[in-house]
Amino acid sequence: MTIRVLDNATINQIAAGEVVERPASVVKELVENALDAGATQIGVEIKGGGIELIRVSDNGAGIPQGEVALAFQRHATSKIRRSEDLQKIESLGFRGEALPSIAAVADVEMATRAENARADSTLAENARPGSTGAAGELSGTYIALEGGSIITQKSQARTRGTTFTARNLFRRVPARLKFLKSIPTETGHVANVVTQYALAYPEVAFNFLTDGRQNLQTTGKGRLADAVLDIYGTATAAKMLPIMYEETPPYQGTGPSPAADGLSGQIRVTGMAGAPELGRSSRDYMSFFVNRRWVSSRILSYAVEEAYSGLLMTGKHPVAVIDITIPPEEVDVNIHPAKSEVKFRNDSPVFRAVQKAVRRTLTAQMAVPGIADVDAPYKAVSNNPALNPANLERLFEAGSRAGKTLPPEGAAPRLADALPVLRVVGQVLACYILAEGPDGMYIIDQHAAHERISYDRVLKQREQRQPEVQGLLEPATFEVGPRQDAVMGASLGQLADFGFNIESFGERTYLVRAVPALLAKEDWTKALKELLDTLAGEEKSRWEEHITASIACHGAVKRGQVLSDDEMRALVRQLEETANPHTCPHGRPTVIRLSGAQLEREFGRS
Ligand code: ADP
Ligand code: MG
Repeated sequence: MTIRVLDNATINQIAAGEVVERPASVVKELVENALDAGATQIGVEIKGGGIELIRVSDNGAGIPQGEVALAFQRHATSKIRRSEDLQKIESLGFRGEALPSIAAVADVEMATRAENARADSTLAENARPGSTGAAGELSGTYIALEGGSIITQKSQARTRGTTFTARNLFRRVPARLKFLKSIPTETGHVANVVTQYALAYPEVAFNFLTDGRQNLQTTGKGRLADAVLDIYGTATAAKMLPIMYEETPPYQGTGPSPAADGLSGQIRVTGMAGAPELGRSSRDYMSFFVNRRWVSSRILSYAVEEAYSGLLMTGKHPVAVIDITIPPEEVDVNIHPAKSEVKFRNDSPVFRAVQKAVRRTLTAQMAVPGIADVDAPYKAVSNNPALNPANLERLFEAGSRAGKTLPPEGAAPRLADALPVLRVVGQVLACYILAEGPDGMYIIDQHAAHERISYDRVLKQREQRQPEVQGLLEPATFEVGPRQDAVMGASLGQLADFGFNIESFGERTYLVRAVPALLAKEDWTKALKELLDTLAGEEKSRWEEHITASIACHGAVKRGQVLSDDEMRALVRQLEETANPHTCPHGRPTVIRLSGAQLEREFGRS
């Protein structure tokens, strides 16, 4: 084929492929534009997960009439002028790619009016057609584009600010449409974007509507604590500790340049860190902002998790909002088309500062016994490496693997599908049940085994449409986050099939009247919150499976729980009766066996 330069429409679609991955990316770009325009109020509205409609309105500086069409050209931006500016970017946008990219993959309308007249400007100046933003405009502009081309542009009255509407996202790009997830999942992603920016900009009042329903409203009072309250609710907000940490490089202004591994100026880490008991099962509750840009960063996540080490249970992740302020030249924001990742000129001082900031906050503000309480059952186990369950498991696994290579003499030393009748001998490390069977010793992971039992039970009840339900003495109100709300609304029916009786009760609040009987004695609010987080990241077709697993997991006896002989016997009996006694629902083993032959060998008798 001959080499030729692609036409503009194609170029824009290619660029759009990088910038606009899903509805949430459009919302992100539009909210960033609103923030760059200095808005103090931002409204976000979506319908049908954002595929049908996305509307972002702001009271920011607006776009002057003469520049409205230009804003839709690629690489047209008011935020930087020359390449040197890339070294010191202080705005969220700078690539001039968002508006043309969105227009390439959706039907777009925008109404905008530039800055109000300044006190000293004259009417004549204002009336000048195409006058610049600085002087203000009497009338605003309306523009509509389809397939990336302008179809209408006219004057239209409106107040200061911009309203941008995108409809029918990816209608012209069916391949992209196919990659989108379910509506609740996409809604959840959008809610996450709005949530993150609401946390990053507590001085801006955000209002977020999904399908006509108020999902999130922040007051814009300017304090992070207020934004956290608006977003995560009172229970979480009450357990968030403020972070304040500053570090100035040791060199003092003049003299030789700073050490290569240092920073060229001050680093400040502020924000809030959640008490360890807020630990969540996903990393979605850690938010990072670098110079007020929302970023995802494995290094930063790692720094925060490090700071919590020893404080959180295994598998739990902290809730934290981390604002990092560093000299703009220390960070390269131009490494990702959606600007959602950044590169630090030097990772290690940033890592250390974040880790220190969070760790200090946690240790300074928490009562020491509290820390010990949270950690106790886990620490006791992990202190002695020989008793570490992982080590034990490895030892026994090695044993059973070796067992398999033994010549098949007599009864094959393999676990049959059914479990033999076992005699409980005792409990070890408050995690394992020791039992004797026909051919050796059996070690049962109490949590995994009970999880298997509960899982089968929940499945069976589900099949027979007879969930075991426990009514609450009094209906409880249950608050959810914006992202969870999208999932909750969409899963009420399915949850009901499992025994949850829940109804909507105002903005992001629900009334819970009954829960599955298995959860009645547990902290069901925690279980339900975790479940919603899991569902948010999953396809709807897999929700049922996750609900089953989650009820089973939360209803199961915990590791670290001391069991009576009767309880252990009952548990082992029930395990013997399940169809798949050898693995938990996640596929991990419930039982390992040390055969008589292996014991002989270990003791050097064979
Ligand atoms: P970038 O943000 O990288 O400059 P965009 O394509 O997002 O590129 O926007 C192009 C230009 O349109 C911006 O530089 C800005 O001047 C203008 N603009 C876009 N959205 C808004 C808004 N909500 N308010 C004011 N100006 C805007
Ligand atoms: Mg932009």
